[in-house]
Amino acid sequence: MPDDRRPSLPELRHTAAHVLAYAVQDLFPDAKPTIGPSIENGFYYDFDRVAPFTADDLQRLESRMREIVEANYPMVGRGVTRQEAVDAFKDNPYKLEIAREIPEGEPITLYSIGDFTDLCRGGHAESTGAIGAFKLTTVAGAYWRGNEQNPMLQRIYGTAWHSQADLTAYLSRLEEAQRRDHRKLGAELDLFSIEEDAGGGLVFWHPHGAIVRGIIENFIREGLRERGYQPVVTPHIVSERLYEISGHIENFAENMFGPIEVENQTFRLKPMNCPGHILIYRSRLHSYRDLPLRYSEFGTVYRFERSGVMHGLTRVRGFTQDDAHLFCTPEQLQHEFEQTVEEARRLMTAFGFSDVRYVLSRRAENARTPTDAIAEEAIRKALDRYELPFEVDEEGGAFYGPKLDINVRDAIGRPWQLGTVQVDFVLPARFALKYRDADGLDKTPVMIHRALAGSLERFFGILIEHYGGAFPAWLAPIQVVVTAISQEQRSYAREVAARLEGAGFRVELDESNEKLGYKIRHWKTQKVPYILVTGKQEVVDGTVNVNQRGVEEKRTISVESFVEELRRIVETKQ
Ligand SMILES: [Zn+2]
Ligand SMILES: [Zn+2]
Repeated sequence: MPDDRRPSLPELRHTAAHVLAYAVQDLFPDAKPTIGPSIENGFYYDFDRVAPFTADDLQRLESRMREIVEANYPMVGRGVTRQEAVDAFKDNPYKLEIAREIPEGEPITLYSIGDFTDLCRGGHAESTGAIGAFKLTTVAGAYWRGNEQNPMLQRIYGTAWHSQADLTAYLSRLEEAQRRDHRKLGAELDLFSIEEDAGGGLVFWHPHGAIVRGIIENFIREGLRERGYQPVVTPHIVSERLYEISGHIENFAENMFGPIEVENQTFRLKPMNCPGHILIYRSRLHSYRDLPLRYSEFGTVYRFERSGVMHGLTRVRGFTQDDAHLFCTPEQLQHEFEQTVEEARRLMTAFGFSDVRYVLSRRAENARTPTDAIAEEAIRKALDRYELPFEVDEEGGAFYGPKLDINVRDAIGRPWQLGTVQVDFVLPARFALKYRDADGLDKTPVMIHRALAGSLERFFGILIEHYGGAFPAWLAPIQVVVTAISQEQRSYAREVAARLEGAGFRVELDESNEKLGYKIRHWKTQKVPYILVTGKQEVVDGTVNVNQRGVEEKRTISVESFVEELRRIVETKQ
């Protein structure tokens, strides 16, 4: 097909959705088609049908779809009156609902391929033969129009591409993503769990996960200390009054957990740390000489998410932010903003994110105030200072001001949003914050909100997928496993393990009676960076046989050389 007639991927995928609905009409005439849009990487179509679609059904549908694609039916559209549309779909309440809701004056169109006609706005390939390659992937439940009051439908997902080569490449990317899925690795490596009896979206960190979290926290603390931040700690539950003053009840209530009544007072779980830090600032008088003040907290917050959207560690109801709030004079704003950008870069580098993108999010035009310009200028200048290119999102700002989002791409190129830095003139005014300036007048400080890793839960989930569970040695929960070939070298293995522990490493001594091959396979599946084996010769020479993750060749070196090597690797965060 010549390029100028080649459909776009969304057109091709939406056409594939029609082809799927055609196949369903042929094989499962009882199923009522509803809607079938194109989505990222593919398409879906929702059907109302009592019996569930099985894996077998998907295969039969794929075969029928293949015939429809090969027949190369032209996509034929025609405009109709509302009455004609209503008549055409009189047995399908979903299509009827759509037909009745199309606004007066807008065209109503029907599109046909072969014997199948759908009510649709358009955006198709010219014929079904344009679909180069496709595959049906899964079936899931979905409420009609996403509303849980409505009937539950069956959503068949598929993917479609211009060529078989594109489809194959996509499927192998998908497989790689599944291999790295943090929910799967979290269980296999015993890092964390979500417990049904405790409720969805609330994370239990197991010992190995908590070790990694501790390392992340220490890394962050170190940077904060060097930059003059002061740690603070605030309550998880406070009077609702606080969030009335802050504006969260007005602007953020749908993301908050509901009120909790105690002794005629209403409390709320903390959705953000800012109001708490503001109370600490407000509790004392401040002179311009005290500023900037930088309060930091690993602050745990709770936000309401619908049960349908929660996902492992990356979308949860309770999480801990590496949060901090800076209070400064307008003159200090740019410098303070710059140092948060510097700190963000230190974090991204240490955790192996080389592809970082910055987005300046402005408030929607009708929400902008004169201070937005001051804030935006500070953000732009900070980025220019480090020659960091950035994009602009015209409406993505927070309810109290513009912000900078820090996005990364992981090892397999998937984008993630991590940190956010926001400039805020609103909350200091709402809480009537003050400092006494050099001229003796009381003035309002500016606030910067910043969380660079974002949520530790989400950050950990991203790291698990970024590294595929194979954490670099400085982060790995177990850095070294020591094991003996046979009983005779057991006490030597213990000595080696003790020496490494004494040097501050995280060591596991494997004294099980399993065969060596079995033990090595086991620790490899646990993705441990180093397995040290001690046999007869090693005991005599005072050496260890090093089996290093990702390195085919084994080598025998002295215990002291190994200690030196690992120390250097941990110090340089490899
Ligand atoms: Zn269509
Ligand atoms: Zn904040």
